[in-house]
Amino acid sequence: MQTVDVLVIGAGPAGTVAASYLKKQGYSVTILEKEKFPRFQIGESLLPCCMEHLEESGLLEAVKVKNFQKKTGAAFMRGDKRCEFLFSEQFTKGWTWTWQVKRADFDSTLAKAVVENGVQVQFECEVLNVVCSTGKQVTDYKDIDGNMHTIESKFIIDSSGYGRVLPRLFDLSKPSAFSPRGAVFAHLEDVNRTEKTSNNIFVHSFDNNRSWIWAIPFSDGSTSVGIVSDKEKVIELAANDGEKYKDFIRNFEDLNGRFKNSDLKFEPRSILGYSIGVKKMFGEGFVLSGNSTEFLDPIFSSGVTFATASGLLSAKMTHRHLQGEDVNWKTDYEDVIQKGIDVFRSYVTGWYSGDFQTIVFTEHINTEIKNQICSVLAGYVWDQSNPFVKKHNTILPTLARVIKMKEKFNSKPGIKK
Ligand SMILES: Cc1cc2nc3c(=O)[nH]c(=O)nc-3n(C[C@H](O)[C@H](O)[C@H](O)COP(=O)(O)OP(=O)(O)OC[C@H]3O[C@@H](n4cnc5c(N)ncnc54)[C@H](O)[C@@H]3O)c2cc1C
Repeated sequence: MQTVDVLVIGAGPAGTVAASYLKKQGYSVTILEKEKFPRFQIGESLLPCCMEHLEESGLLEAVKVKNFQKKTGAAFMRGDKRCEFLFSEQFTKGWTWTWQVKRADFDSTLAKAVVENGVQVQFECEVLNVVCSTGKQVTDYKDIDGNMHTIESKFIIDSSGYGRVLPRLFDLSKPSAFSPRGAVFAHLEDVNRTEKTSNNIFVHSFDNNRSWIWAIPFSDGSTSVGIVSDKEKVIELAANDGEKYKDFIRNFEDLNGRFKNSDLKFEPRSILGYSIGVKKMFGEGFVLSGNSTEFLDPIFSSGVTFATASGLLSAKMTHRHLQGEDVNWKTDYEDVIQKGIDVFRSYVTGWYSGDFQTIVFTEHINTEIKNQICSVLAGYVWDQSNPFVKKHNTILPTLARVIKMKEKFNSKPGIKK
């Protein structure tokens, strides 16, 4: 029987940030990770806000030396419309850049750094069962050879991402209100890339806001290209080794032939029905972080930032709990994380309704408004001084309605713009 202060399930960004922070506070920490690293993971475009979490957990320097592709903004396109956000032009004071990363390399870098800091990471160990109680948590896991082991800990942080270990075992998942969507994606050679097209994520909206494409450039000259749409369309695009996906990205006119002759680095992969909610983010002896909590949608690239934000906050709360403090997990953890998720929920809703596009593709977007939206896109969704955070659930539909009315009025014959 192994014993440890804190057991973390999963070595993705949420788990490594949590483990690193707690190790710095002097606890013994073990991560059990199902896969062998490096392993592929989707979620390649980061947001500036996550740099703060990497820094505070002591992981930023390890990532810096990797020289990943710098990301300084996000460009949205629809037909001939274009709106580019630069993170240097933000309302909230914070990081003005971040990275775009192949997650195999990024996650391995984080895992290696936590091992160097003294965290024990056991790869190819799959958590199968957990029994939680006051003060003592008992976890059963299977190693690569099929042998079962037990580990006892004072506390558990579940960072198992799409594996959702504790939500599954403790019946904590709940369906998402978003309709089931999916994505089909691959990494491609990007010979037509210019310096200008390297520093951004590119998002092309099409099909009347039903579908969109991401292009995420990496430092090695390749680019991740994915198509997100409803389930039926993704199944169609992914069929026969992604035949229709390949055809689409080579010929879609908004991409201007950028990937016309590009070779794929691997056959297209697809993922369906990823949006999921959670009934509760904590319980006796455990807390959930990252994708074990709620996952909304890939538009706006918020997943890793939520993983690092919740990984860090869950670790801070765990530290207070282990110090004997009576932690209010609801107000000090769940409500904080939920607040940020709810801001992005409004923007995801606004994306698929088309309100977001109406605002950003309007002919003359007000600079102050643009800077405030930019801070949301940079992940600063806890800044209540930003009206686009504070009034997140009403501001997009209201502003879009005003813009549409104005455009309708301006288009009347005889009206000068
Ligand atoms: C199509 C798509 C595109 C996306 N694009 C972006 C993007 O551009 N930017 C962005 O920020 N986010 C993006 N995301 C979201 C992103 O993938 C996740 O939010 C992010 O990876 C969550 O990190 P995590 O640490 O919570 O979990 P993960 O990164 O999933 O890590 C969890 C780890 O837990 C391990 N694990 C699972 N089960 C067990 C078990 N039983 N025992 C032990 N270990 C286990 C897994 O092997 C894994 O290594 C995208 C998501 C989708 C679906």
